[in-house]
Order: sequence, then structure tokens, then C-alpha cells
Amino acid sequence: MKERVRRQILDFKPYAPGLTLEDIREKYGVEQVIKLASNENPLGVSPVVQKILGRKAAEAFRYPQNHSPRLCAALGGLLGVDPEMVVVGNGSDEIIDMLFRVVAEPGRDSVLCYEHCFSMYRMCAKLCGVDYREAPRAPGLNLPLDALAEAADENTALVIVTSPDNPTGLAATADELEKLARALPDGTLLVVDGAYAEFARPAEEYELAGRLADLENVVLLRTFSKAYGLAGLRLGYGVMPTWLASYLRRARIPFTVNLPAEAAGLAALEDTVFLNETLRVVFEGRDYLAGELAALGCEVTPSQSNFLMFKPPCDANELFEGLLRRGIIVRPLKSFGLPERIRVNVGTDRENKAFVAALKELL
Ligand SMILES: *Cc1c(COP(=O)(O)O)cnc(C)c1O
Repeated sequence: MKERVRRQILDFKPYAPGLTLEDIREKYGVEQVIKLASNENPLGVSPVVQKILGRKAAEAFRYPQNHSPRLCAALGGLLGVDPEMVVVGNGSDEIIDMLFRVVAEPGRDSVLCYEHCFSMYRMCAKLCGVDYREAPRAPGLNLPLDALAEAADENTALVIVTSPDNPTGLAATADELEKLARALPDGTLLVVDGAYAEFARPAEEYELAGRLADLENVVLLRTFSKAYGLAGLRLGYGVMPTWLASYLRRARIPFTVNLPAEAAGLAALEDTVFLNETLRVVFEGRDYLAGELAALGCEVTPSQSNFLMFKPPCDANELFEGLLRRGIIVRPLKSFGLPERIRVNVGTDRENKAFVAALKELL
């Protein structure tokens, strides 16, 4: 019966997530595990949001409101855009998937990304039967915006830029992204995946939301998984022209955003104390880690995000394994096509220090 499976699926390479705490406890028999591999929030879940989640448990027998209009309204208010431009999803991954299925025609269209990018884009393209292309990155791994503008043609449905970028941490300014949007062929959408947007500074130099009303071909993706500490709840959103948002809402599977997630999202947006504390911990920790890594002879890429990419002065995979044996999980970047580099996210002060201490032993 295997022949029943679609050709694109037969040789499908699944998404490879970072190792979990349970994986490491079992494999290495270490008790204390520190996970700095998936860019999660070092402070965990806001206490305010935890309280709301507890309260919402009793309502979980109800269907949520389809399309989560209250959350869309709150997000519209936060970003200063028409709430009709906002589509929420089961993680921003769901919005990426919907965008592909709504705008890219299998067999005709392509999507254009760049080398060493987030693997979800390739996965979605493959699932949709849409041609996937990558523009080369220059040495230094800067975001190749000019190469994207050059490579896009009339069959390019989507151009995707991650900014701040995963795994490099580099970011494109709003001016640069607007210039790219205006340089693309008619009918090509620019998708800016801003999963780490809250961490970019100065914020006004990087914030694109205020320009969306004037840009007919730009989609912003955001998530509650990183700065808001809700990765396990699966909540993200896209901000896009109203015509496109209405097609996404029309085509989507109902109720993918669950009732506790919507309530948690609303509470998280109100909880500016937690967000500001997250930003403080991330910025301080990032400076500390960047300094220590450089002092240990690592080549550190400057980051506008909650993680750092570095090239150690030794074999990256051996270093990764050595850290695992000490109960510390980081992300080796072999799967991103960068086998000499490692990505580590900022943790709590204690976690950062434990990571640095382990590095000192290993290097
Ligand atoms: C973490 C991350 C996301 C977030 O995905 P969710 O589905 O919202 O958890 C999106 N894009 C990139 C590049 C990421 O690193």
C-alpha cells in the first residue's frame, strides 16, 4: 500500500527539532540538564499567564471562537494595524504553511529563500509540491537581500527573509526590507519572519509593522514562542494585506488556535513587566556570553536575537558532544549547512555561567 503515499512524501526529510531534556537525561544519565538549544524564554512562562491558564481549564470543553477575533484586535492595537490584517495560527509555522497553500501554485510557482535558513520553509515547499530555491549568502553570512531581488522572477510566489535571522542572529532594517519589497516582481510576496523581532535594537530601525498599510506585498510573521515564553502552547500570527488575510481565514482548518492559547496570548500582551524582564535578561546575558565566547577564542556573530552563533576554535561536533555529557544542550548547525558553527540561546544567569564553565573545561 506504500504506493498510495504521494511522491513528495516518500522521500520527505522531517523537521529535526533540538534535543529535549528527556532525551539527554536518558542517554547520558545526567540529572541536571540545561537546555540552550531551541531559543526558548529563559524566564519560562509569565506567572500572570500561568494563572489565566489555570482559570481557563474549566472552559476547555467549549470550542474557541474561530479566528480568535479578540486576540486579533489586541494584536492590531499593539502593532498599530487594522485587526483585519491579522491572522493567528497554531504557531507561526501554521501561518507559513497556510501562506504556501494559499498563494503558491504547485508545478508552476517557486518560493525563494537563502542558504542556511530555517528548514520549515523547505519542508512547506516540498509538502505543497512547489519548487524551492535558495539565493547564495555572501561570506560573512549577511542576509543576501540584493541576491533575492535579483533571483526573483514572475513565478516566484514568495520570498522569505528571517529577520532577525535564525541561526545567524543578523537582522535587516525596515528600510532594507521595504526596498526589497519594492524591487520584487508584481505578484511576488515578501514574507518577513520576525520570530525574534522583539529582540532587535534600536526597535524603530527594525519595525516594519507601521509601513504595512503602504506595502501591498509584505507579510510579517510573529510568534508567542520566544519573547512571550509560550512555545509549548503553539501561538503565532501573520500581519498581511486584508485581501490576503481574508483568503487565509477562508481556507483554514477551523479552531487551530485553542481556547487556553488565546486567553494566554491576550494575557501575555498585557504583561509588559514579564516582557521587559525577558528583554533585560536576554540583553545582559547576550553581552555576557558574547564576551566570554570571544575570550575563549570563538568567532562570535553579532546578534539581534535571543541567541548567539559562534565558531569554536575546535571541532564543533566534539564540543557539542562534550557539552551534552555535562548536561548542556546547544544547537550544532550542521543541519543548517554550517557544520563548523554552534547556536546557543541566552539562558538565566546561572545557566549562562554553567555553559561558560563547561566551555572553559572543554576548550
Ligand atoms: C522559532 C521560530 C519560529 C516560531 O515558530 P512557532 O511555530 O511560532 O513556534 C518561526 N520562525 C523561525 C525562524 C523560528 O526560529
